[in-house]
Amino acid sequence: MSKINRREFLRQSLLATAGITFFSCEDDPPTEPWDDSPGALQGIGSPTKIVIIGAGLSGLVAGFELKRAGHDITILEARDRVGGRVLTLREPFSDGLIAEAGAARIPYNHDLTLGYADYFGLKIDSFYPDEGLYADYSGGVRTLIPPEEFLEDQPWSGSVLHSEYSKIIGGSDQLPKAFTESLMEEIYLNNPVKSIEQSQHKVIVKVMDNTEFPAKKVLCTVPIPVLKNITFNPPLSPEKIAAISGGYDYAPASRVFIQLNDRFWENEGLNGFANTDWPEEIWHPSWNRGKQKGILLSYLRSNRALENDQLSEINRIGQVLNRWENIFPGIQSHVDVGHSISWMDEKWSRGAWASPTQEQDELVGSYLGDPEGRIHFAGEHISEFHGWMQGALFSGLRAAQEIHNGNDIIV
Ligand SMILES: Cc1cc2nc3c(=O)[nH]c(=O)nc-3n(C[C@H](O)[C@H](O)[C@H](O)COP(=O)(O)OP(=O)(O)OC[C@H]3O[C@@H](n4cnc5c(N)ncnc54)[C@H](O)[C@@H]3O)c2cc1C
Repeated sequence: MSKINRREFLRQSLLATAGITFFSCEDDPPTEPWDDSPGALQGIGSPTKIVIIGAGLSGLVAGFELKRAGHDITILEARDRVGGRVLTLREPFSDGLIAEAGAARIPYNHDLTLGYADYFGLKIDSFYPDEGLYADYSGGVRTLIPPEEFLEDQPWSGSVLHSEYSKIIGGSDQLPKAFTESLMEEIYLNNPVKSIEQSQHKVIVKVMDNTEFPAKKVLCTVPIPVLKNITFNPPLSPEKIAAISGGYDYAPASRVFIQLNDRFWENEGLNGFANTDWPEEIWHPSWNRGKQKGILLSYLRSNRALENDQLSEINRIGQVLNRWENIFPGIQSHVDVGHSISWMDEKWSRGAWASPTQEQDELVGSYLGDPEGRIHFAGEHISEFHGWMQGALFSGLRAAQEIHNGNDIIV
């Protein structure tokens, strides 16, 4: 099978044979006791001991559905929190204000993200306000855009309209936290995995303090740039090794947050959202919270993110404020506190999302989801939705179904 055909084959099989159930009102009633969630696994598998590496959305959804289907699961997470690249910041802000460091907006057609949010009873609101003027600062000129016009436009070519994005009220991290509620006993935080050794009958996963976790199956959801922290014995396939060794790119992205003591821009009829030709997106995540203070954030990508990452924290904040003085005159006199995050600098991510070239995608991308013996793989990078919670959920469910089906490939 040629690589392009193989990729198309994988794409089709992900969609058609993953066995993932998407319920709508017209579906038949559930037939299994665990069969009532947006991604419920199908069929009855024999209970298996499974270690999942990573408590991002792909690992959490897999753990959630595998546990409900009767398996014995353990989730090992390197960080001191769940959620991975879903990170809602509450500090250093005050007055209960929050801002998203990672996943923030949800397109109307991301059925798994919206489906699980609904399943857990999370409330959704529009991402963009339908009141107040949007600003654009390009070529040294500030232009004000009425909301009707802005909402019918797209943030980038190929995207859904601004009006078709929503967000989870209270923060995107409500979603990983909702999965976690029924996995309290199974999740071990602060436990970076350092090695995975498999033999014909079992796998031994070892964490930094040398504790061993034996399993029948392993699901690895670790992002490619940090997969090199884990030693595999026997080694991974040549394609996966090529990806880990720099053959599979991730995009840089950074955010700079400024809490302002007053939403002074509202005096001019602005809603706090803007675009610049730096380029950057400027968001006002607190627009629908009835507080006096507000947070504005700068969302930088590509080379602008990398340039920003070279600066000290104070200079990141200073550069943003200088630029924003042209859009929100007088901003410097309203600053409470500033903060920034670089996803390239994050020890357990080293990148914002998978962004392979077409060649990388063909050479190695289509192999990243292949199981290696008893080890299965998931994560947004193993999906058609790079850089979306939808991709993480989809890939986690696809791998969970694969494990549930029990199709071992013995090494
Ligand atoms: C800046 C930014 C903006 C985004 N915007 C949006 C958006 O608006 N909407 C949207 O839907 N999505 C968005 N996303 C994408 C979304 O956040 C991700 O696609 C999704 O969260 C990825 O989930 P994951 O499980 O694949 O990976 P991760 O969330 O990265 O989870 C992997 C987990 O593995 C852990 N780990 C790593 N190494 C080890 C180890 N050795 N041992 C144990 N654990 C380990 C990590 O700590 C992490 O918790 C954005 C992401 C970023 C960074």
